[in-house]
Amino acid sequence: MLVNYLGANGQVRCIGVDSLDVVKDAARIHNTSNVATAAFGRTLTGALILTRHLKNKDDILTLQIRGDGPLGGVVAVTTSDCKVRGYVINPDVTLPLKDGKLDVGRAIGKGNITVVKDFGLKEPYVGSVPLLTGEIGEDLAYYLAVSEQIPSFISLGVLVKGSEVLASGGFMIQPLPGTDEEIIAELEKRSMSFPPVSQLLHAGATIEDVINDFMRGFSMEKLEEGETSYACNCSRERIVGVLASISRKELDEIIEDDEGAEVKCHFCNTAYFFTTDELKEIRDELM
Ligand SMILES: [Zn+2]
Repeated sequence: MLVNYLGANGQVRCIGVDSLDVVKDAARIHNTSNVATAAFGRTLTGALILTRHLKNKDDILTLQIRGDGPLGGVVAVTTSDCKVRGYVINPDVTLPLKDGKLDVGRAIGKGNITVVKDFGLKEPYVGSVPLLTGEIGEDLAYYLAVSEQIPSFISLGVLVKGSEVLASGGFMIQPLPGTDEEIIAELEKRSMSFPPVSQLLHAGATIEDVINDFMRGFSMEKLEEGETSYACNCSRERIVGVLASISRKELDEIIEDDEGAEVKCHFCNTAYFFTTDELKEIRDELM
């Protein structure tokens, strides 16, 4: 679920996402370890929050975290109607806890955070900055501040116990240009001591409660409430497109093996099987 508010008499954009259902589905489909679930869940949630920077229905946003840590990286792709999908490069990594918490920063390591916005134009918009901590929430706020000149506070969190996802969500508080300095200073102060969002959700608060608590004392106008879901848009035709894009030599080799080919969708793990004859057809259409 995504909620979108304007706070402090229209001066502050507030977006919250409860991503428990999304992250449960993502963890099940990709069979992620706990630390991978946390990194994946935060990335999916962050991408959902950023959808409110898209303009049109068909716009697509990709949030990509690449690091030299054992996870390798995490990708989330979302449409503006909040259907999100993604994958973790190495989903079965396990690491010791750090101060009792899943060590997402170490699992990601040093690297970059990249946002791609596809508005259906010839060239997509691409912005990228180095990771600050690899914890994803802070990195995303840093990206917005540096790459898009939009200062924001972002909190993302996933609570996993055993291998069950207990809570997942996040929110963004974004003073719009021209916001009173005293309001910005107050919000900054609150951001320093605000409890982890996953903890609040697990204790029974809704994401709306969390945002309203953060913004306590300010006026809040609700603009929108919408569904979020983990959803893939793959199809046999799309996979044919992938096969058609690999090198001619590779395709020839697969055909020579004469065992057909099984291609799995990165995002939802659905397997598509192609016989040798079908592969030959794909190859011959490329000629
Ligand atoms: Zn798929």
